[in-house]
Amino acid sequence: MPLLVLPPPQPAWPKDLLPLRTELIRQGFHVLLKTPPAAATYGQFDPRTRTIWIAPVTIPLEIVRTTFLHEAIHAAQSCPHGRMTLLGFKAKVLPVVEMEINGILSTRYGHANRALEREAFLLQSQPNAVAVLIRALRSRCNLKRT
Ligand SMILES: [Zn+2]
Repeated sequence: MPLLVLPPPQPAWPKDLLPLRTELIRQGFHVLLKTPPAAATYGQFDPRTRTIWIAPVTIPLEIVRTTFLHEAIHAAQSCPHGRMTLLGFKAKVLPVVEMEINGILSTRYGHANRALEREAFLLQSQPNAVAVLIRALRSRCNLKRT
C-alpha cells in the first residue's frame, strides 16, 4: 500500500482573532496572512498602504495572537490620518513584563518609535486586547465615506 502523503494543512486565523480582522478590513486596512516584505520579521504594518502582513509560520509557532495584535495596534495608531500617534492605552504591568519591554525597546527600536512600540507591547499582552482594539479602531479610524 502506498504511503499517503497529505499536504500540510493550510494555516488559518484563530477564531477569536476574526472579529478584529473583520473590523480592520471594514476600516479599510488590508490584512494578509503572508510573509512580510521586511526581512526576519513575523509581522509588519505599512501605514502608507494600510497593510498588515502576518507570517503564516506564526500559527504553528503559536505566536500569531501577539504578532497580529501588535501590528493591529500599529494600524489603530495610524488612524485617522496615517501619522502614528498613541492610543493612550494605560495598563498596570508586572515589573518583570516592564523590564522585558524595556529590554526589547532598548535593543531593537529607535527613539522615535519607542512610545508607540511600548504601547503595542503593553496592549498585546492584555487579555481584553481584542475588545480594546476594536473599540479604538471604531472611534479613531471610522472612515467617513461620502
Ligand atoms: Zn511594533
